[in-house]
Amino acid sequence: MTTSRDDAEALDRDDPLRSFRDRFEIPDGLIYLDGNSLGALPRKTPERVAEVVREEWGKDLIAGWNTHDWISAPQRAGAKIARLIGAKSHEVIGADSVSVNIFKLAAAALKMRPGRRVIVSEKGNFPTDLYMLQGLAEFAGAELRAVERGEVVQALDEDVALLLLTHAHYKTGELYDMDGVTEAAHASGALTLWDLSHSTGALEVDLNGARADFAVGCGYKYLNGGPGAPAFLYAAERHHNEFSQPLSGWMGHKRPFEFIDDYEPGAGMDRALAGTPPILAFTALEAGLETFDGVEMHQLRTKSRQLGDLFLTRVKERCAGHGLKLACPEDSNARGSQVSLAHEDGYAVVQALIERGVVGDFRSPDILRFGFAPLYLRYVDVYDAVEHLAEVLETGDWREERFQTRAAVT
Ligand SMILES: *Cc1c(COP(=O)(O)O)cnc(C)c1O
Repeated sequence: MTTSRDDAEALDRDDPLRSFRDRFEIPDGLIYLDGNSLGALPRKTPERVAEVVREEWGKDLIAGWNTHDWISAPQRAGAKIARLIGAKSHEVIGADSVSVNIFKLAAAALKMRPGRRVIVSEKGNFPTDLYMLQGLAEFAGAELRAVERGEVVQALDEDVALLLLTHAHYKTGELYDMDGVTEAAHASGALTLWDLSHSTGALEVDLNGARADFAVGCGYKYLNGGPGAPAFLYAAERHHNEFSQPLSGWMGHKRPFEFIDDYEPGAGMDRALAGTPPILAFTALEAGLETFDGVEMHQLRTKSRQLGDLFLTRVKERCAGHGLKLACPEDSNARGSQVSLAHEDGYAVVQALIERGVVGDFRSPDILRFGFAPLYLRYVDVYDAVEHLAEVLETGDWREERFQTRAAVT
């Protein structure tokens, strides 16, 4: 017996998170399966940002740093994110981009492991992770050892200062066993830096439970902070007195408003800051984080897995014989909140879907990627998305000329 649309509707009726969709502005008729690239707009964000612009900035000007406590935005955002990733509120701070934060923490790790000059990561990791490590390695006289996914643990030896991995792989959605890998890294004397860009706000993460050393993650994906939202960093409390990072700007200083010549790192995560926090961007990020108020992470994860499973079940039932291949783990335990399929003409297929109002994305060379943001996606959306996918493949719509040209951002 195949799955019916009634089955999907029944899942929506029983969904403990179904009311959270009302916290978002989703255009009518759109099936948005790209919340893993850019989260949807929270209903409160436009008003909140307008208020900060008109009332706080417009009327209070410079006083706003104190009267509206703009200055604590990085710590406030960090504390809200901490709950989602199994960290203490003072272990997380909002700042800069993931790329910049990787540089800061990888440099910090090299300094904490004198005599060890190697950073291990995975071939095929998200490009910026590797690029930033390449830049740092050249700058700091270190070495990047990028190895195949299955060889990460074997690559750890007495020269390794840091292991940087992305918890949920951006292309395949494959998850690492954070506990086991962190333990192996520690056994070899290395520190760990986890990139949580595709995990935060979609899965249960327990950084403290895993004894993770460092982490970074993204504000504009599942956290719904808006395009280019500030990212975040985490350092375990046990490293707070020891870690230091080279982008030692004034906002990371212990007493920035004493304007003294010599740098002295601020307490805890404050020292991870460099320059002035972008308050309008933080306003939108904080509004995005509020969409998680009242969410139990295990509910989020359960729904995320079920959405992915429904998608894969329907693909099997409806799309056989059209050259689609599974490009993610079939077992939802081993998969992040996305499903990836490979198709020779993946780019055109994704474009044809987008024209029908089903937004996924394409990752070179041949991956169709569908992300499931459990706060605002319904089971019927997933059901309908696969119906569209089946029709695009059956009709061959994707062969049309206008679907073949690649845009700058895929
Ligand atoms: C999205 C993403 C990033 C983004 O980096 P930015 O510097 O914030 O643009 C980094 N790493 C991974 C794994 C990602 O998925």
